[in-house]
Amino acid sequence: MQLKTILNSIEKQKGFVYHSIHWNDQKSALLVNIRAHRHSRATCSGCGQKAPGYDTLAERRFEFVPLWAIPVYFLYSMRRVDCCCCGVTVEEVPWSDGKHRTTFSYRVFLSRWAKRLSWKETATTFGTSWDTVQRSVDWVVRWGLVHREIGEIEAIGIDEIQYRRGHQYLTLVYQIDADCRRLLYVAKDRTEKSLRGFFYTISDSTKLSLRFVCTDMWRQYLTVIAEEVHHAVHILDRFHVMKKFGDKLNKVRAEEARQMKLDGYEPILKNSRWCLLKRPGNLTKKQTVKLKELLQYNLRSVRAYLMREDFQRFWEYSNSTWAGKFLDQWCTRAMRSRIEPMKEMARTLRTHRAYLLNWFAARGEVSNGSVEGLNNKAKLAMRKAYGFKSYETIEIALYHQLGRLPEPETHHRFC
Ligand SMILES: [Zn+2]
Repeated sequence: MQLKTILNSIEKQKGFVYHSIHWNDQKSALLVNIRAHRHSRATCSGCGQKAPGYDTLAERRFEFVPLWAIPVYFLYSMRRVDCCCCGVTVEEVPWSDGKHRTTFSYRVFLSRWAKRLSWKETATTFGTSWDTVQRSVDWVVRWGLVHREIGEIEAIGIDEIQYRRGHQYLTLVYQIDADCRRLLYVAKDRTEKSLRGFFYTISDSTKLSLRFVCTDMWRQYLTVIAEEVHHAVHILDRFHVMKKFGDKLNKVRAEEARQMKLDGYEPILKNSRWCLLKRPGNLTKKQTVKLKELLQYNLRSVRAYLMREDFQRFWEYSNSTWAGKFLDQWCTRAMRSRIEPMKEMARTLRTHRAYLLNWFAARGEVSNGSVEGLNNKAKLAMRKAYGFKSYETIEIALYHQLGRLPEPETHHRFC
């Protein structure tokens, strides 16, 4: 069987034929010559209509999916047409478009692998450059964004994520329905404008279908939600509230450790950061021992830790009246604690009381861990695209991993 036969069965090019296949001079790549069907007229790339020929350009190379780790290139001399509507334009060919040096199939192939491996690993594995992988993913994602359907959405989670040092944040909007969890929107910064952009991209019927919105306590988001989707139940989700607790706890610990050092005490708080920040069930053996040791001291960090652990009970209530009572009692205790960061936390919780209690109204309908799960995946996606320079690349990487976008169809699945 000839390679041509295989090519014709996996990817027939309408109006063109695979003419001949040979090695390049170094015998390091396969070159596939493509010719247009005799007497076939070229298609104008501007309007998609058949048009009379004008001239033929120099031969171009298009990288195709490698065979047995041997790079494969299509070689073809593009014709130009004299179109009655568009003037002189380059013809349209079924395997590639415009300025790309890769075929559609190869872009889909690389993009699929780049979901499993990092972009750098993908480039190394298939003997191509990081830029080619990036451009392929970019093209597949843009295609997906144009062709995706948003439809009705029950719940969204709004998240902010740091993507670079120095307070550089992204605003992410996830769909967190039980049967569909995906990234819907990414924007730079975490301003009102960043979030408002999301509501411009969705239709009115999508907006009206929203029943629940989960966010953190970022004021800019609260303002936009109140304006744009006042009909939905707005919830402060557990993940974000407990994250804020973690920040406060860390503040107490850092301050106390510094003070102890100044006063010449034994540095017992050294290496204690994760013992205090993680939930007890997630600690390693060594950290558990350290935690036990710490709990013997009457430290402010320890008291703050116990207060945070106590607050976890809030989420266990099944009824919002009792949860509200617990919340008020907890805040009163915290205000008497004389630990400033915990007092700050109590004030914040009091200000957002109504949003916190909304959690109980949505109980059983919005899953607790969905925002957290997507947040972890987003961080992983950014690491996988490592090597990015621009914000645009991060945006593409996030949609690629989390967007559940449709892909262009190829006749044959290469991977
Ligand atoms: Zn035309």
